[in-house]
This record gives sequence, structure tokens and C-alpha cells, in this order.
Amino acid sequence: MNWEIVMGLETHVELSTESKIFCGCSTSFGAAPNRQCCPVCMGLPGALPVLNEKVVEYGVKVGLALGCSITPVSRFDRKNYFYPDLPKGYQISQLYAPLCTCGRVEVAGTTIGIHEIHMEEDAGKLYHAPATGETLCDFNRCGVPLLEIVTEPDFRTPEQVVAYLELLRERLQYLGVSDGKMEEGSLRCDVNLSVRPVGGHTLGTRTEMKNLGSFKAIARAIQYESQRQIALLERGERVVQETRRFDEEKGETFSMRSKEEARDYRYFPEPDLPPVVLSQEYIQDIRDHLPELGEAKRRRYAQQYQLPDYDCQMVTSHPSLARFFEELIALGTPPKQGANWIMGEVLGALSARSLSPEGLTITPKTLARLIQLVGEGKLNRNTAVKVFEAVFDTDGDVDAYVAAHGLEQVQDVELVENTVAQVLEENPQSVADWRGGKEKAFGFLVGQTMRKLQGKADPQTVRRVLLEQLGQE
Ligand code: ADP
Ligand code: MG
Ligand code: ZN
Repeated sequence: MNWEIVMGLETHVELSTESKIFCGCSTSFGAAPNRQCCPVCMGLPGALPVLNEKVVEYGVKVGLALGCSITPVSRFDRKNYFYPDLPKGYQISQLYAPLCTCGRVEVAGTTIGIHEIHMEEDAGKLYHAPATGETLCDFNRCGVPLLEIVTEPDFRTPEQVVAYLELLRERLQYLGVSDGKMEEGSLRCDVNLSVRPVGGHTLGTRTEMKNLGSFKAIARAIQYESQRQIALLERGERVVQETRRFDEEKGETFSMRSKEEARDYRYFPEPDLPPVVLSQEYIQDIRDHLPELGEAKRRRYAQQYQLPDYDCQMVTSHPSLARFFEELIALGTPPKQGANWIMGEVLGALSARSLSPEGLTITPKTLARLIQLVGEGKLNRNTAVKVFEAVFDTDGDVDAYVAAHGLEQVQDVELVENTVAQVLEENPQSVADWRGGKEKAFGFLVGQTMRKLQGKADPQTVRRVLLEQLGQE
């Protein structure tokens, strides 16, 4: 029998607000344990939550960018459960009236429905100390704002899932509401998966997979879990509805717990928070101020700057790169050259340092100046790359560096001509080889000349002068 995979995603997005969702504690990542908590986020008796407006604003932005309807009056609910990382004994979330509903996005040629987006608070973190066997609690993450984005079961392939997550991450970054870093847990995705005979109309029993730390892990987990379910059904057994954990090392999923239902959580309306009432003007104002997103930028760059699709894709792959590119152009850099430097040197330097684009220290002004020097024939491209490497980390002064290291390109044609003459005289064998048809010998002569000029000549000029003098002999 031929089987079809059916998947729906629940994605948790950590919002990059400065303070937590219901108190003033900082949300910054990496602080010493239990230094960023207070009676509210620890849920001490009598402490009252106050909603952070930014969370609502960010949630509405994401909802609009995913084509959702915004709920005029949404509410918070308590989801009750016990776990040591949740000192309150309940999580404030939204069940009955979530902030956004009924959205859709186009990904990889299909439409993915967005069932809802709701606001909630994150829980703390547990550390299992290997040396002592103790478990320690860090409550810094308690109350960090999250959006949970729930899709319809519209995915059929792992490629669609990954494409959706890439698009989602890009939109979150362009909206400036989250850094979207999977490695740091700002984007966490659970995959619900069932299988059914191709063409079937009813949904099979699903499992929910957790602990998916990267796009690669997600694709592998889908592969494994769909095969596991198909094998069960083909043996005449049943799929048990449950939550399963993906083991990255083994590449397999393992049962964690049976699937809980909403009623297991004893949800009830949060009594300490009023409903979130949003006016049409408020929503419209956010809609009017949405930034230009990646897709719109790609279309515009192709049209306005005649950039190839590949360049558009690369340059817009992160909003910090797109901003960098636009500033380069505003400083007079020819678009194609700006794109080449970003795709080559900038991305190369970032990846060599394992930095993401928002970590760029070099400014567009510095790179624009470097590109200008190349354009004016004052630096050759190879030297410029060296200067780039030297100024990249500190945004150093390009002109000062060039002057201090005597890197300015040799403009003096006579000097090039004299050097070429000298090289020809010193390398009669290579000249003979070239005349005998050995193309390689020409490259050698170019190399020798460049070397004598300490790499500072324009290679084009060297080639031209060499050809002239070889013709003259
Ligand atoms: P719960 O509230 O128990 O997590 P939901 O009904 O909210 O369950 O669904 C959670 C996610 O699972 C959604 O993304 C939904 O699209 C997906 N889903 C639901 N049923 C199935 C199914 N049979 N197969 C695949 N995905 C499913
Ligand atoms: Mg769920
Ligand atoms: Zn707090």
C-alpha cells in the first residue's frame, strides 16, 4: 500500500522583548541562574501579573504577517500541571480565545493553514548535574514571553516542514520580534505526525514529537517516525496516540508519555488578568507599519537593481544583511558589487567566526569605501580582500590601513613596464615555452611580475603590458 504522511506543527517562539510577559524581570539569555526572577514570575502567593503590552504588539505583528484574523477580545487561561521547572503549578496561556486565528502562508507550492497563535509564558530550566546526580532549578526563563503558532495538519513532506520553518524564522526576524535561533531555543518546534493510505480522507492516529533541535533533526525524525507508524499499520497493529522524544544520536523516537488532553490540565480562565481588548485602530496602525518582509525585498531587488535571483535570496536571507546591502547602495556602491561582497567576503567572514549577521561590527560605510577604492583602481581586488579581513572585526579605518601598510595599487604604468621587461629577461625559458604554446607559462610570468610589485599592481594592466612586450620581441 502507498502511504501519505500528514503533519501539523506547534512552534514556540521566544519573543525578544526586554522584560518578561507579566513582570519587569529581564529576559536576557545566559545570566547566572535565578538572578532574573521575582515573586510574580515565581508565582509566590499574592503576587499579581501585569501584561507586557509589547507582547501583544509582537503577537499582532506575527498574526498579520501570517494572514491571521486578530481576535478583538482575547483572554488568558490557566493550564495546570506540576513539574519542578514551573514553580507556580500552572502556566498562563490562552485556550478559549487566542490572540490570532485562521491564517495561511504559501510555502513550497502549498498553502499551510495557521490554526491559531496564542500568547503564553515559558517555564524555567532544569539542570541534571552529572557529577552529583542532583537536579537543579533555574527560574530565569519563567515568564519569558512565548507565542505558540499552531498550524492545520497541512504538511505532507519533510521539505514542506523545513521550508515553512525557514519562512517563519525569516518573517520573525524581519518583524524584529524574535531572533529565531533554534540553537538557543528561541524557536522550538513540535511535529504532530500521522500516516494514512494515499488519497484517504480521515486522519490517522497521531504522535507528537519533541526535542527537535535543528532542521536536520526535524527531517530525520519525520523520516523515522513515519516509517515506524507505517510498519506498525502494515503489521496490523495500531499507532498509540502519545508524545515521543527524538533521540538525536540514535536517530529514533521514544515514547515519553501518553497524550494528555485539554481536560487533563484543568484549564480555567485566568482570574488575575483582564481580557485583552484591541481596537480596530490599534490593529490597523500595526498593519500600516509592518516592515518590508523578505519576499517583497527579493522582488524589489530583482526589479530595481537587476540582481540575479540567487543574489536576491542570499542578500535577504537575514534582515541585518538586507539592511547592510541597502546602506551600501545608499553610499553609492554599485548593487551587483555590493551583493558580491556580501555573498562572498561578508558571509565568509561571518561563517569563519560562527557569527550570525546581527553580530556584524564592520559598517557599510567601511565596506563602501573599500569597494570605492577598488573601483577607482587604487586597490586591486586581492589586496582589498586582505584589507577587508584586517578591518572586519573592529570596523577599522580602510584608508589608514592602506596607507600604513603601503598597499595602494601601483598606478605607475612605466613601473609596470620596467618590471615586466625585467621579468622577461630573467625568465627566457618561460618566454620560449609560451611561444611554444604553453599557456601556463604566461600565468607564471604574470605571477612573477605581481610578486616583484608586491601584489599591488592591477592584474589586467600586467597582462596587457606582458602581451605587448611579448609581441614586441
Ligand atoms: P493538542 O491541543 O492536543 O496539542 P491539537 O488539536 O491542537 O492538539 O493539534 C495540535 C497539532 O497537531 C496541530 O498542528 C494539528 O494540525 C496537528 N494534528 C492534529 N491531528 C493530527 C493528525 N491526525 N495527524 C497529524 N497532525 C495532526
Ligand atoms: Mg498541543
Ligand atoms: Zn519576574
